Amino acid sequence: MTPMTRRAFLKDLGHGTLAVAVLGFTVVSCASAADDPTTTSSTGDSTPSTTDAPDTTSPPTTGGSESPTWERVVLGGVSAYLLVRAGEVVIVDTGNPGDEGDIEASLQGIGHGWDDVSHVILTHLHGDHIGSLGPVMEAAASAQGYAGAPDLPSIPSPRALEPVGDGDSVFGLDIIAAPGHTPGSIAILDPIGGVLVAGDAMNGADGGVIGANPRFTQDMEEANRSIAKLAGLGFDTLFFGHGDPVLGGAAAQVAALAAELTQG
Ligand SMILES: [Zn+2]
Repeated sequence: MTPMTRRAFLKDLGHGTLAVAVLGFTVVSCASAADDPTTTSSTGDSTPSTTDAPDTTSPPTTGGSESPTWERVVLGGVSAYLLVRAGEVVIVDTGNPGDEGDIEASLQGIGHGWDDVSHVILTHLHGDHIGSLGPVMEAAASAQGYAGAPDLPSIPSPRALEPVGDGDSVFGLDIIAAPGHTPGSIAILDPIGGVLVAGDAMNGADGGVIGANPRFTQDMEEANRSIAKLAGLGFDTLFFGHGDPVLGGAAAQVAALAAELTQG
């Protein structure tokens, strides 16, 4: 699916839902209601997006059968990600409540199922990233879950999550503390594929990268420092919670953004 088609697809879903948030590059964010962990929404409530197959895209990864493969799972206005390597799957973020079916469809679309999911990593505590954690952890019965230590107490889970931060590694992925958007926000670096998953530490916009959204970010100064920290990592592809990926030269774009943010 081309970006234009995906935008049209999202626009169709829009109607005031999360999906419309990624259309404009001035407003790219967690949505207010879903983003607030204190806001509850009915998990049984079906949304228009459930009538459509999840939109998955595979960015180019460095070749070789041993290389990990990333799959983006677009869930309305927020994205989750699947990393597949050697028959095992890592899920990064779980969308809003009720998104487990779309995540399952994406797993099946790449020839896998819940039993192959060994790890579930949450970039931060916001409701549009942890919304389907309960059903996902129940379906992926052998998976271990992880979240940044400061966010972990605010994330309800059917079984204990492991706190992670700088220096930790999960299935060959480096965990990078990226506080500011939330105190326990983390980014995930795949050093083999050259991929960084930023969560909401940054946002995709108009093919490029912009900073954390001030409407939903607890500490913008800290968030900007985290962007400067992430700019120093080795990656070429950048995935976001909100907005389209940057598929080449991403570290340089983040470095330019960091310079711009610290200048102000
Ligand atoms: Zn967020």
